[in-house]
Amino acid sequence: MESKFKLQTLIRPNIAAMQPYSSARDEFKEFDKEMVFLDANENPFGKGLNRYPDPNQSSLKKSFSKVRGVPSAQILLGNGSDEVLDLIFRAFCEPNVDTIITLPPTYGMYKVLANLNAIENREVLLRKDFQIDTQEVLNAQTANTKLLFVCSPNNPTGTVFNEEDIKELLCNFNGLVVIDEAYIDFSASESWVSKLSMYPNLIVTQTLSKAFGMAGIRLGVCYASVEIISVLNKIKPPYNVNALTQQRALEQLGKHSEIDSQIRFLKEQRGVLSKALLQLKCIEEIVPSEANFLLVKVDDATKRYQQLIEKGIVVRNRSNQPLCENTLRFTIGTETENKILIETLKTL
Ligand SMILES: *Cc1c(COP(=O)(O)O)cnc(C)c1O
Repeated sequence: MESKFKLQTLIRPNIAAMQPYSSARDEFKEFDKEMVFLDANENPFGKGLNRYPDPNQSSLKKSFSKVRGVPSAQILLGNGSDEVLDLIFRAFCEPNVDTIITLPPTYGMYKVLANLNAIENREVLLRKDFQIDTQEVLNAQTANTKLLFVCSPNNPTGTVFNEEDIKELLCNFNGLVVIDEAYIDFSASESWVSKLSMYPNLIVTQTLSKAFGMAGIRLGVCYASVEIISVLNKIKPPYNVNALTQQRALEQLGKHSEIDSQIRFLKEQRGVLSKALLQLKCIEEIVPSEANFLLVKVDDATKRYQQLIEKGIVVRNRSNQPLCENTLRFTIGTETENKILIETLKTL
C-alpha cells in the first residue's frame, strides 16, 4: 500500500510549481531576540500587538507536539479547522476536474468547501447502523478522486467508525484520507495521529473549538506526513494564526487538569442526559454518542424544535439530513442547562 502511494501525483500542478510568499518574519526567524526590527514596516509604537505574529507558530506547535506526540514538522495550524480543510482542497483538488467523497450524514462544511472550490462531491451514504459501506466508497472513486472525508466521531451522529473499515480505506483509497477528529477527546477510541507513520495518505484534523473550549479564538490543527504539511505550509497565508490566538491557545494547552475534568464531566452528563431523555414520551431513540452531543429521534422534530425555541432553548434540527428523519441534536451543556432541557421537554 505504501509503495503505490505517490504524493507528487496528487498535488495540483500550479501548486507544485509555485514559490511561496516570503515574509519579513520568514527571512529573519529569531524573534525572541532583542533586535532592532526595521524589516516589516510595522509601527514601532505599540503594546505587544504592533509586531506580526510568528508565521510558523513555533511555540504553539511545540506545545501541540507534546500534547499529541507528533513532531512539529508534521503539524499545520489554521484559522479554525475550516481554514485547514480549505487549504487541503486548494492544494490537492483541481477545480472542475477533481472529485472528493463524503459520507453523509456528516459535517456540512466538506460539501460547502467542495462547492466553493468547484469540486464534485460524490456522496456515499452511511449504512443504517451509521457505519461506512467501504466497498461502495472504493467503487465511487475514479482516477480524479483526491480526498475522502471521514468524520470520527461523526457529526451529527456522534458515532465512531470501525477501525478495520478505516484501515481498509487507508490501504485501498487512491487519494488522501482526511479523518476529522473534532470530537476525539470525548471518545473512548484512540486518535489516528498515532498511525501517521504507517499511512502516508493519512491526514488528521483537530480543533480547539470543542473539548478545549476555545471556539472563539479559531484554531484548527492538521497532522500529516512532513511531505503533506510542507505542501500546505507553502500555500497558507503567511500570518494565518494571529498573535492573540497563539497566546490564548498556548495558555489553554497548559491547563491539562482543567480541560480533562471538563471532558470527564461532559461525558458523565452525556450519560445522565441520555438516561433522562429516554424517560420522555416524545423521545423515541438516542444514537449512542462518543461526542459532546446526542442525536435524538423524536416524534415530530419540527414541532419540538419550534416549541423549544419558544421556551428559549436552541437545539439543532437535523431532520433534513439523510438517515436522520425526525432527529434533533442536543449539545451537552452545564448541569443546569441539561436540567432545563429535560424539564422543558417534560412540559411539551
Ligand atoms: C465543530 C466542528 C469542527 C470545528 O471547526 P472549527 O473551524 O475548528 O471551529 C470541525 N469538524 C467538525 C466535524 C465539527 O463538528
